[in-house]
Amino acid sequence: MLRDPITDVHSDAWWMRVCEGALSPQEEADWQAHLAQCEACRREWTALAQVDMLLRTATPPPMLAPDFTAHTVERITHKQKLRQMLQFVVGALILGLVAWIGWAYFGAVLSNAVRALVVMISGRQVLFAALMRTLVGLAVMIKSLLPLLLGIAGAALLFLTPNSILASVMVVWYARRKRAAATAA
Ligand SMILES: [Zn+2]
Repeated sequence: MLRDPITDVHSDAWWMRVCEGALSPQEEADWQAHLAQCEACRREWTALAQVDMLLRTATPPPMLAPDFTAHTVERITHKQKLRQMLQFVVGALILGLVAWIGWAYFGAVLSNAVRALVVMISGRQVLFAALMRTLVGLAVMIKSLLPLLLGIAGAALLFLTPNSILASVMVVWYARRKRAAATAA
């Protein structure tokens, strides 16, 4: 036969009502009578009572100071500001160091490049001057060699075409020219 859980002293519902102190005077009397004769219930009830007493007598959690939150927030903000400042300072230092190293390095490179450029330009000027000198010298040499070259050419022509009129004309022209040059000099 099923027992009513509300009135069954071994049901969870009954124990809940006992803990809540929701028993009627009659039920309370019945409960005390049951505890007196039921070893298991008496032991569990004693354990429960001890737990209940422990919870009641336990020291309450320490109360936080009224300004704890504001204080903590302020401290965290202060720390964050300090960290940001530190990051800024460290960043600026790193940037300065990099800029300094870069300036030193690129300054050296730049001065080297300028020096190389100057050397190259002056070298070119020297080369150009040498080339011009060579060209001028060559031109002077060609000019002084021109009569000889013309003579060689004329002689070659004469030799190649012994009986031609052109050869005769060339010889006459060359002889006249040579005489003219001799009178001029
Ligand atoms: Zn019992």
